[in-house]
Amino acid sequence: MADKSIRISQRALGIKASGIRKFFELGLSMKNPIDLSIGQAHFDVPEEIKQAAIGAINEGRNRYTVTQGIPELRDALKARYAQRFGDISGCETMVTCGVSGGLMLTFLATLDPGDEILIPDPYFVMYRHLATMVGAKAVTYDIYPEFKPTAAAIRAKITDKTRLILVNSPSNPTGYALNEAEARELAALSDETGIPLVSDEIYEDFIYTERHVSPREFTDNCIVLSGASKSMGMPGWRMGWLLAPRDLVERMYSLQQFSYVCAPAPLQWAALKGLELDFAAHREEYRAKRDLVYEGLKDSYRIVKPGGAFYMFPYLPDGVDPERFLEACIKRELLVVPGGACSDRNTNFRLCYAATDEKLKRAVDMLNDIAGELR
Ligand code: PMP
Repeated sequence: MADKSIRISQRALGIKASGIRKFFELGLSMKNPIDLSIGQAHFDVPEEIKQAAIGAINEGRNRYTVTQGIPELRDALKARYAQRFGDISGCETMVTCGVSGGLMLTFLATLDPGDEILIPDPYFVMYRHLATMVGAKAVTYDIYPEFKPTAAAIRAKITDKTRLILVNSPSNPTGYALNEAEARELAALSDETGIPLVSDEIYEDFIYTERHVSPREFTDNCIVLSGASKSMGMPGWRMGWLLAPRDLVERMYSLQQFSYVCAPAPLQWAALKGLELDFAAHREEYRAKRDLVYEGLKDSYRIVKPGGAFYMFPYLPDGVDPERFLEACIKRELLVVPGGACSDRNTNFRLCYAATDEKLKRAVDMLNDIAGELR
């Protein structure tokens, strides 16, 4: 009898399950967990955006759209980017299936097998695996201990195989947000070496510094990715977009055409509505949550105070074993992500403070308790 098991590709075998998902699943089996492990806003999609989606469905906007996205949304994005970056006449925008879709298209369109992409350490887990999927290699550059990406750390990792430098500000998992001098430094490095930047700006609306700074302000050798999952509270709607040089984006159109085809049609109309709204209230709410958690934990844990996103990446107290720390959290039904799931080191943990204040206060008490117990 022939062996009927379906052979699994080396590509699929090369990808390990996300360490973060494991916690998500563990949370589902707990009675009343405090889940600070998954990175999504804790508010629902604003009512006006929901109504725009329902309206679009009722009006029959349910067919395929052009691959690159509806012109109305792309024009709104272009206007927004032109206001921020000045002349973008050499660039195009494109609507993608989440920033994940934009990352996939970027990697597919720019990386050949054997090429290298530089990613920060710690990093958003997907970067590493996407590189593997396209046969390329993700090489990390060190941003410990302050989580600041510097030209020096990146330069040290550049080889003749380096094709892209990825930056993520505000950052997952650290919450670090670039200031203008830092963004200029990265842009100058890109101009000097000719290696393009990929700037993942999905958390741009959650910023607690003076303003969100993109390296694209200082170089056009840059692919900018962003989307609606976090800002508009719609991670399940899969809406993202990108801005990049036209010749590259045109290649991405074909890649999307022959894979995902287009982003969800009615939800493109909803995201267009969302671009008219102001998210300052959410930003202020998250700033207060950041302060609550930071102030609550800073005497027990060393923390780089985040300038954006909704994550914190505290250091475990000296001598505390990461496994024992996690066990202590799980015993209390508190879910956080071990630093090792998003880093080559295992010296920190990520917590997402997109939760109710009541839950955050309980989590702070538990974490202080744990620090005392394990010291
Ligand atoms: N980039 C970063 C840094 C993220 O944290 C996430 C989501 N966790 C994504 C991209 C992907 O987001 P989405 O596909 O929902 O737009």
